[in-house]
Amino acid sequence: MAESVTKTLLHSQALQQYILDTSVFPREHELLKQLRTATFEKYGHLCELNIPGDEGMFLSMLLKIINAKRTLEIGVFTGYSLLITALALPDDGKVTAIDLDQEAYEVGLPFIEKAGVSHKISFIQSDALSALDQMLSQKGDGQGRAEEFDFVFVDADKSEYRGYHERVMRLLRIGGVVAYDNTLWYGSVAKGQEELPEFLRSRAMEGVASYFYDGHTAIVEFNEFLASDPRVDISQVPIGDGVTLCRRLR
Ligand code: SAH
Ligand code: CA
Repeated sequence: MAESVTKTLLHSQALQQYILDTSVFPREHELLKQLRTATFEKYGHLCELNIPGDEGMFLSMLLKIINAKRTLEIGVFTGYSLLITALALPDDGKVTAIDLDQEAYEVGLPFIEKAGVSHKISFIQSDALSALDQMLSQKGDGQGRAEEFDFVFVDADKSEYRGYHERVMRLLRIGGVVAYDNTLWYGSVAKGQEELPEFLRSRAMEGVASYFYDGHTAIVEFNEFLASDPRVDISQVPIGDGVTLCRRLR
């Protein structure tokens, strides 16, 4: 079942399954289920790039609590977190979504359309840093879309999180919230180089292995940086693969 392909830091897989069976699946929108299944059919286990259902419900709750109307998503893939967001926003809400990969976005798009929320989405196919710079320089006043957003979800290239953060600090309104995904990186952030599992260890290996290794290094550095950033309140939430919430103070 595609629904059971999910990333968790809980020590018991049975406990994660309990949470999903008891409070997520009975409430999860039918089109979110279909989007996850279609992602699994096309991408197999890469399906776990989509946030797990319990994290989805957490984001949805958060968006509603803060009354978010304008949001930004950096890293869309097939759009599970995007559809969660679009469903949580009011009818006149807007989410701007950025990803390099148009093809993956189009795998999820039919489900977003069927859910009746595609009018809330504007998708930008681009490298995220260039798109953010472009957004900040629009309108020619040097401010662009600064202070436009109530909420930002960051889930693209882990080694660029620091660069995203500098731009997000301008795009977010004061009091707005940014959520960084995967900040516990398979739980590996608490481990030294020699204790890392094989798939996270070797920088020398090409492709997937270096993706995991570089992600580990980048996330460890980013977490330390965030803890020292006086512009934000932070809360590290151990749901999914770890989510750090930051509230812009100034
Ligand atoms: N937030 C999604 C999953 C995103 S997976 C969900 O939970 O459903 C990460 C995505 O980041 C991938 O689709 C990848 O194409 C995108 N990405 C990686 N590097 C990027 C970059 N430099 N600019 C824009 N998108 C990038
Ligand atoms: Ca993620």
